[in-house]
Amino acid sequence: THFGFTNVPESEKESRVGAVFSSVASSYDNMNDLMSLGIHRLWKDHFVRSLNPGTPVANRPADAKDQGWNILDIAGGTGDIAFRMLDHATNINHDMQTRVTISDINADMLAEGRKRSTATPYYNTPRLSFVQANAQDMPHIPSNSVDLYTVVFGIRNFTDKQAALNEAFRVLKPGGVFACMEFSKVENPLFDAVYKRWNFGAIPLIGQIVAGDRDSYQYLVESIERFPSQEEFRGMIQQAGFEIPGKGYENLTGGIAAIHKGIKP
Ligand code: SAM
Repeated sequence: THFGFTNVPESEKESRVGAVFSSVASSYDNMNDLMSLGIHRLWKDHFVRSLNPGTPVANRPADAKDQGWNILDIAGGTGDIAFRMLDHATNINHDMQTRVTISDINADMLAEGRKRSTATPYYNTPRLSFVQANAQDMPHIPSNSVDLYTVVFGIRNFTDKQAALNEAFRVLKPGGVFACMEFSKVENPLFDAVYKRWNFGAIPLIGQIVAGDRDSYQYLVESIERFPSQEEFRGMIQQAGFEIPGKGYENLTGGIAAIHKGIKP
């Protein structure tokens, strides 16, 4: 198998992405730690803190005030983001109502998430649920029903990113928040040169040695390279109908990753 994506037709792309994530599902966290030198954990903590899930929602009717947030974690795979958001709501905001639906296209990633959830207090409670779905088309999720939509290191794998953004806009309530963390463009040219050497040189090699799977990690590196710049991606969020708060994005570690946000008017 070869996961080089440069000349792959769109129709084939989805099944190849599926094969990549089925192949990495169980070694996923270890690999993330190795590839990012552990930094992805700090980014994820920062991402969740910046969203502050479970704070009282000001513009809600009085009878709905205590019902917590309805959060949709897209491409939520192993539950990394979902568990953090529930922990934050519970421990920081003393909110026991906020709930997260983990949605992912890949059954193996969802199975891994479900397995991990057994070690959390949210296992088998109404606060955590799993659905298998393509983020580009989610007819089972009603319009105007979601308070917070998160997608972390997921959207660069989507075949039609604009369709996913439009779908995010549809399911969010007015006032609801779209938040995305994704690999992005490094701003400093010198740092970028070092970073590219790490990505193209070390990562496929680490993938080969640790996971026995060079091709999947080669794909991951290429997908990072192809993802739009901070400004381009902000434009796509705007295109979907979102209002952009402030600059619209925050760079992490010099732009290796960025957090983008949008508000549904
Ligand atoms: N959010 C998790 C994290 O940060 O650890 C998992 C991110 S993982 C790199 C990317 C996820 O995107 C995979 O679980 C994959 O199955 C999922 N994915 C890829 N294409 C998708 C699509 N079209 N719709 C929904 N999920 C998708």
